[in-house]
Amino acid sequence: MKKEFFFILFITLAVQRLVIGQIAQPKASEEWDPRLTEVWEPAPRMVTPGAGTAAPSDATVLFDGKNTAEWTHQDGTPVKWEVKDGAMTVVKGTGGIFTKKTFGDCQLHIEWRAPADDMDEGQNRGNSGIFLQNRYEVQVLDSHGGTTYSNGQAGAIYKQSMPLVNACRPAGEWQTYDIIYTAPKFNADGMKVVPGFITVLHNGVLIQHHTEIKGTTEYRGLPKNIAHGKGPIQLQDHGEKVSYRNIWIREL
Ligand code: MG
Repeated sequence: MKKEFFFILFITLAVQRLVIGQIAQPKASEEWDPRLTEVWEPAPRMVTPGAGTAAPSDATVLFDGKNTAEWTHQDGTPVKWEVKDGAMTVVKGTGGIFTKKTFGDCQLHIEWRAPADDMDEGQNRGNSGIFLQNRYEVQVLDSHGGTTYSNGQAGAIYKQSMPLVNACRPAGEWQTYDIIYTAPKFNADGMKVVPGFITVLHNGVLIQHHTEIKGTTEYRGLPKNIAHGKGPIQLQDHGEKVSYRNIWIREL
């Protein structure tokens, strides 16, 4: 009986020592079986990319060049902008247009063109804008010609962050914005606890790199931070004939 007891004790201690020894002395990484660090589940779902800048299979198309059904003016009336030749163009005085759906975090592709015949200067040279959650403007402007303040030129988070570089094409040419946006987060008391961030590629060139959004876009005064949920995307009527086409979004 005593013999058996000591035998079991010996085995137990030996096993413990073996296990602890293995934990205490991990193998050098070159001795690891490479399969130990492979992750198989879950597998990312399949998305079929679009040809060129066309919408991928899981995107919501907001404007296909013909149909403005996803948009409305602020008073809920149908879009009065001109739809022609696969593009929609601001009609001065009709007001901005808003997506009927609301969005938060997203990837947005949008193409725009400043009018070639707009010889005005500064902020009146092909000005429009893309307002995320109807609050935060990515500036649209002919910044290839004309001069204006740096934090108000094309690709600026208007009056907050100038673009890293000026990647603007001449007026009359189509340009792309690819925007990755994470919305600010607010707590139950309405305080901003996580700022919004934005990344923008202009014609494929990085111009905003995970830029912190300081608050609402304001023409006068400082940005504001009032709690909000999802919001529509607004395209601005600044009175100039800026055109848009091929707009699609992926909610993140
Ligand atoms: Mg603008």
